[in-house]
Amino acid sequence: MPVSPFDKPVYRFAPSPNGPLHLGHALSALLNHDMAMEAEGHFLLRIEDIDLARCTPEFEQGIYRDLAWLGVAWETPARRQSDHFSSYEAALDRLRDMDLVYPAFMTRGEVRAQVRAFETDGKIWPRDPDGAPLYPPEDKHRSRAERQAFIAEGKPHAFRLDMEKALQHIRLPLVWTETGDSHQRELPADPSEWGDVVLSRSDAPSSYHLSVVVDDAAQGVTHVVRGLDLFASTAVHRLLQELLQLPSPFYHHHRLILGEDGRKLSKSAGSTGLATLRGNGFMLGDVRRLVGL
Ligand code: GLU
Repeated sequence: MPVSPFDKPVYRFAPSPNGPLHLGHALSALLNHDMAMEAEGHFLLRIEDIDLARCTPEFEQGIYRDLAWLGVAWETPARRQSDHFSSYEAALDRLRDMDLVYPAFMTRGEVRAQVRAFETDGKIWPRDPDGAPLYPPEDKHRSRAERQAFIAEGKPHAFRLDMEKALQHIRLPLVWTETGDSHQRELPADPSEWGDVVLSRSDAPSSYHLSVVVDDAAQGVTHVVRGLDLFASTAVHRLLQELLQLPSPFYHHHRLILGEDGRKLSKSAGSTGLATLRGNGFMLGDVRRLVGL
């Protein structure tokens, strides 16, 4: 059962400042805020800026302006992930102490090349729910000495979760409580379909999965309301919560706003960008109508 240091439900909107907000974000922010107000709960804002190469202070300022325009007031201060790298490192250390983490040395290009070579004669390399190839097993099986030698050589590496071992650490079946689609039910979570997920990279001290789980617990979030594009990730979040002994919130995955091409809106927001709409004289009522609220 979700546990919170607050006595009221806690909702959060957690955008990444790596592009302008668009109508998809508006739906998520407004829905979170509406649900929090209806439940007389808290509405928090979290700036998910662990990817320091792509996130900028300008996009962050844009988020504040867009949310103010949407009439969405968050409790201050907003939590900025880049202020909390040490919390994610502490969580990673706990998983390391459980012997569930290994250094992964292959670059994306090397993985792609291995997959391509494997698939030349018609075989299919397994993919995760987002369509990315699962990480090859070689690094997981390296000896301690070999790992140390690679690291001493300065070979860049990420840290990955040993999914097989991790699943042996928790009580199965793993489930989450989903409230999307207006009825509450328990859904089975199968994190194994993601393979050995990344927990930190050489250029970012935490991964999305690790920081989101640590932060939802740190902020006492009881209700995660987010797009259906993150539905499958919830299995990984539930696994990390079990491993780190963190409470599990309710999850509510909402429909996505699609562009004219029928695809999820991208960060190059174009005509669906909130700042563009504002500049073109659109009002809050127009945005609510456009996102179907
Ligand atoms: N930062 C993520 C995004 O912008 C959302 C994370 C979440 O709601 O769990 O897509």
